[in-house]
Amino acid sequence: MSAVLAIAVDAPLRRLFDYRPPLHTDPATLQPGVRLWVPFGRRRVVGVLAALRAESELPESRLKPAHAVIDATPVLDPALLDLLLWSADYYRHPPGEVIAAALPAALRSGAAANATTERWTLTAAARTGTLPPLSSRATRLNELVDFLRERDAADEAELLARSPRWRDPMRELEKRGWATRLRAETARTPAFDRDARIGPRPDPTPDQERAIAAIAAASGRHASFLLHGVTGSGKTEVYLRAIEDVVRRGEQALVLVPEISLTPQLVARFEARFDAPLAVMHSSLPDTERLQAWRSARDGTAPVVIGTRSAVFAPLARAGLIVVDEEHDASYKQQEGFRYSARDLALARAQRLGIPVVLGSATPSLESLERVGSGRSTRLGLPVRAAGARPPTLRLVDLRRHAGTHGIATPVVLAIGRHLEQGGQVLLYLNRRGYAPSLFCPSCGWVAPCPRCDARLTVHQREHRLHCHHCGTEQRVPETCPDCGQPAKPVGQGTERIEETLAQLFPGVPLARIDRDAVRRRGALESALDRVTRGEVRLLVGTQMLTKGHHFPDVTLVVVLNADQGLFGTDFRASERLAQTIVQVAGRAGRAERPGEVLIQTEYPEHPLLAQLVEGGYDAYAEAALAERRQAEWPPFARIAVLRAEAARREPPMAFLDRARELAAAQAGGEVELLGPAAAPMERRAGHYRAQLLLHARSHGPLQRLLSRWLPEVEAMPEARRVRWSIDVDPLELF
Ligand code: ADP
Ligand code: ZN
Ligand code: ZN
Repeated sequence: MSAVLAIAVDAPLRRLFDYRPPLHTDPATLQPGVRLWVPFGRRRVVGVLAALRAESELPESRLKPAHAVIDATPVLDPALLDLLLWSADYYRHPPGEVIAAALPAALRSGAAANATTERWTLTAAARTGTLPPLSSRATRLNELVDFLRERDAADEAELLARSPRWRDPMRELEKRGWATRLRAETARTPAFDRDARIGPRPDPTPDQERAIAAIAAASGRHASFLLHGVTGSGKTEVYLRAIEDVVRRGEQALVLVPEISLTPQLVARFEARFDAPLAVMHSSLPDTERLQAWRSARDGTAPVVIGTRSAVFAPLARAGLIVVDEEHDASYKQQEGFRYSARDLALARAQRLGIPVVLGSATPSLESLERVGSGRSTRLGLPVRAAGARPPTLRLVDLRRHAGTHGIATPVVLAIGRHLEQGGQVLLYLNRRGYAPSLFCPSCGWVAPCPRCDARLTVHQREHRLHCHHCGTEQRVPETCPDCGQPAKPVGQGTERIEETLAQLFPGVPLARIDRDAVRRRGALESALDRVTRGEVRLLVGTQMLTKGHHFPDVTLVVVLNADQGLFGTDFRASERLAQTIVQVAGRAGRAERPGEVLIQTEYPEHPLLAQLVEGGYDAYAEAALAERRQAEWPPFARIAVLRAEAARREPPMAFLDRARELAAAQAGGEVELLGPAAAPMERRAGHYRAQLLLHARSHGPLQRLLSRWLPEVEAMPEARRVRWSIDVDPLELF
């Protein structure tokens, strides 16, 4: 009986590829999840066996045999492989690319999955030329010698990558004294000690106690929790306790965090608590370290695996718990290529594994709140701050009524002075880096445009350059207006200008700016945060970076310089993001005994969103926002997907989307609504015109059924070849 191997190959095609087993390989010995070398076009690539099938849709004669099997045991266990194939289906993304996202680069190019491997090397005699030469006709032996001569040693994976038939010639070389084996020199890290010392920790508060007990009671079965507590309420402490339990049972915990480089303090806390190797996984790790972390997660030597988005695919020998910290954070959604949500996949994975999952946030996403509302998740509340600090008070400052200095209203200037005098630290938040958001000519009205985007260039004063924050274009700042020759001037505020203004208003007060420009150098962020923590810095100005993970215990005043950017956004999630940001920044204040004060500058103090936030906090906002979404039938009360297209000219994306819409309309029935196509609000970006078609349905089923029938047709459309297009299921942003 013949068997067909359905293999996932890292290629942009929404299907698996059929192969025959390698010659002399019994297909019964092959388990799904092993890697193989396969011929693909004119290349040889690493593929992953997704399934064994009895037959192919292609005639047997057209199937090529795979070259060689790489792994004795699967690199992806059945549950993980199943999750990946399901994700590929759910997000309508090529399965080979989905599986590639789950493997470290080294494994994608054929490196050994296990740390313990034999290696082969040329003998000293062979290297010094003291052996009788090999016959020049022994081509395979000579080639192998050349290959080994170029490196210290080669392992099985490397030899296999060179040629699937390497064992016979190698045996021959060993017999003749040319080659020799090195025993595995990479020592296995010992399995962690379950009774490992647990670092010092505070006694849980009664609220923490309840949360810890609820999570512990769910061990060994699936349950989903939303740990909802204000910043500083002790959520991390709850994770740590819950994980202690997991570790004592000899199981592993997977902890997802938004951005490792922004949360060194969090990783340090885990390290201080567990006297065991942590596997830390994030995108800026060098390949070898990433492979090492992947291995220690897979063989179970790391009891805690902590990582960013793609760590949701970390292999786990004995999974016991999944934690998603700051679950509302947008970075859990990959915005290009394989557009998945790591938070949603964490839920799916925990369900498949039959283990509990804890999503934590001070500002839960409306999706997670809806899951609680519909009974699919249990809310664990931490209503007060752990260390007893009082919550900050929020106040709005009406920008229309108060004069100001370069974007800082007079009452705010006075408040800053007061807090500084009383020995407090002050944090100012503005989500705009650079000096000013545009360069303007007062004589003729010219505004410096980006040549490649429908956007303005941002002035960066210190570098004396103009930057486009959408495409990266850079220019010199022109001396005069190119249209009329009069002087042009920066208008509006960015963090760089706020820094300058503060230095003028409060001369001599030590100041730090934290944004992408200021902390570009490696280690710059850590050192700036250190100076803040040590109290050397009294004034702190920064962007979104400040809202994530950091604890600033001595900050007594937080200023949100401009709340208005999110009030009238075109995206239905704009207000949710604004509310989260304000509450997150506000949460940085008044950690210790001193109560914090939060001032929010706005031109729309009567806006209902701001009023709700100030009076009822995030909960009041969220309740109102959920009611609005339910009424308007938007997520989480509906499901959407977006077909996006872009091209260097304006017409092809529209033509593509118009045609795609016709095809969808023929299938949609009454269940899926089609909206658009419409051009993006900023239509041209980096020289490309962008447009999209939105698909909207009450529930996921009809949407998924339509996508599965429709996308193959879209792929085959001639118009598809003239654009770059993508599908985004459960998009976070509409453009
Ligand atoms: P969150 O993750 O919600 O921001 P953390 O767990 O970081 O909160 O706790 C905030 C601060 O309170 C930390 O300094 C932490 O050490 C401290 N803390 C947490 N739980 C307790 C507790 N039960 N008793 C005393 N201090 C605590
Ligand atoms: Zn001009
Ligand atoms: Zn641009």
